[in-house]
Amino acid sequence: MDCLFCKIIAGEIPSNKAYEDDWCYAFFDIAPQAPTHVLVVPKLHISSTDGINAENSIYVGKIFEVIPKLAAELGLGEGYRVITNCGENGCQSVKHLHFHILGGKKLSENMA
Ligand code: AMP
Repeated sequence: MDCLFCKIIAGEIPSNKAYEDDWCYAFFDIAPQAPTHVLVVPKLHISSTDGINAENSIYVGKIFEVIPKLAAELGLGEGYRVITNCGENGCQSVKHLHFHILGGKKLSENMA
């Protein structure tokens, strides 16, 4: 499968790792949109939120256990935003489920 994030997880494409365990891999976004911008991706290829089902949703749960710990390690104690884009109208550019963690400043109240 020709998937950028699968290649990053496999180490075939370099990334700046922030965290890794058996379920997920986190790395700094190459084009940060906030002072801290990290992507958390499941190690299983899931296309988007539309690809989440009863068989793979454990990956999502594991990721959301990691996010608050990772955010704290990243110094985001004053708050942060978690975003996942889905599909054309959601402006999803990489078709492997990923959660953006954005923080390090007061973020815009406008989310759309
Ligand atoms: P999305 O638009 O929600 O699909 O988010 C994809 C994100 O992946 C964007 O924020 C990109 O800047 C980021 N991205 C693309 N290629 C890389 C890469 N090689 N390393 C790190 N982040 C990347």
